[in-house]
Amino acid sequence: MSASPMSASPKPRLVVVGNGMAGMRTVEELLKLAPDLYDITVFGAEPHGNYNRILLSPVLAGEKTIADIMLNTREWYAQNGIELLAGDPVVAIDRARRMVRSQSGREVRYDRLLLATGSKPFIIPVPGHQLDGVIAFRDIQDVETMLAAARDHRHAVVIGGGLLGLEAANGLMRQGMEVSVVHVTGSLMDRQLDAPASALLKQALERKGLRFLLNAHTSAILGETRVTGVRFKDGTSVPADLVVMTAGVRPNIELARQAGLHCERAIVVDDTLQTYDPRVYAVGECVQHRQATFGLVAPIWDQARVAAAHLAGAGHRRYVQQATATKLKVTGVDLYSAGDFIGGAGSEDLVMRDARRGVYKRLVLQDGRLVGAVLYGDVQDGPWYFDLIQRGAPVGAMRQRLLFGRAQCEALAA
Ligand SMILES: Cc1cc2nc3c(=O)[nH]c(=O)nc-3n(C[C@H](O)[C@H](O)[C@H](O)COP(=O)(O)OP(=O)(O)OC[C@H]3O[C@@H](n4cnc5c(N)ncnc54)[C@H](O)[C@@H]3O)c2cc1C
Repeated sequence: MSASPMSASPKPRLVVVGNGMAGMRTVEELLKLAPDLYDITVFGAEPHGNYNRILLSPVLAGEKTIADIMLNTREWYAQNGIELLAGDPVVAIDRARRMVRSQSGREVRYDRLLLATGSKPFIIPVPGHQLDGVIAFRDIQDVETMLAAARDHRHAVVIGGGLLGLEAANGLMRQGMEVSVVHVTGSLMDRQLDAPASALLKQALERKGLRFLLNAHTSAILGETRVTGVRFKDGTSVPADLVVMTAGVRPNIELARQAGLHCERAIVVDDTLQTYDPRVYAVGECVQHRQATFGLVAPIWDQARVAAAHLAGAGHRRYVQQATATKLKVTGVDLYSAGDFIGGAGSEDLVMRDARRGVYKRLVLQDGRLVGAVLYGDVQDGPWYFDLIQRGAPVGAMRQRLLFGRAQCEALAA
């Protein structure tokens, strides 16, 4: 077991646990504000530099390579004086001694600790879930397993018809597999889309060659050592050589919990991204801020800026939750969803449907302001609607033209 020197460095030590998108964005923001403030050590469970996880989908689809999606190479860490310990996860935090210990037995002392451990995919615990060929879609290793399976096997089943599941299914289909997507409800991407947009999406993906099994409840994964099929509660089954589970994620908080940090669904942080221990900050999918947890990068970039400002000693920023927007990264399918597209008491809908052009738009208004938007087929105005949502701008004066987009509304104002 090696211990890092306790007094060799005059600088305070920052230890980052998690070499992913949130942790490294925070370090980048910190370097902009205070490049020489800390001696920084980053532990990563994955054996790589930091990469753009979002772009795993285009890698799987064969549109990008792993090299294309690397964000920070090992040289970047070296140039910035950061010690990167990749492939060596932290296994314990001793808050009394202000020390972390890694799997390989390395101990590093900290003055400030940043937890950015992300999420773990939820593997539905049905019989057979541990068979070979049953995987998640979260990291480079998963993509490599899928690409290898596509070379040697034919039938893939993706369990979970959300954003991630559809991107996995599209990628596997592009790699030549026959893909069925299994979803528990009757509507794909039901966290981002309303039922009409979801139906249009399903038709478009069916035309591309995907198969859908909706309202289907998985009861078992079949096979002896490797998966051979998936069985459902109604007794039917489909063949499968590869099963990809994309049925949600759980914040990765075991380490924090074992260290006695206050956790509920995730590590609880305040508006400065500080945990209940003032020396420990947390960012990304492992945190809970005022009941919310996170699964998209836009809020995580805001968190990174705030946490970095506080780590830099310029503690004037507060993290404020904002509406989020999502796009599906499937080439040839245009959809955009932002804000609260369900609406509530007192909200009203503006809807445009042009089945021949394959266009559907739904805007949700509340108290004269836009609060949500679902666009399918024509998404050009998505960022403009999103901006109106974020600014809480009054839209009463352009209500009649709002569905027709920015150009029409600005022509009215001119
Ligand atoms: C295929 C895919 C497509 C996506 N597409 C989009 C998209 O289009 N738009 C969008 O906004 N978001 C998208 N996301 C979500 C986005 O990638 C995540 O929200 C973001 O990566 C979260 O950042 P994070 O740092 O919290 O977690 P991660 O990026 O997962 O990083 C956490 C890191 O911590 C490491 N770690 C965990 N425990 C330890 C430990 N004990 N010691 C050391 N290291 C540890 C993990 O191995 C991991 O590398 C996508 C995600 C996936 C998987």
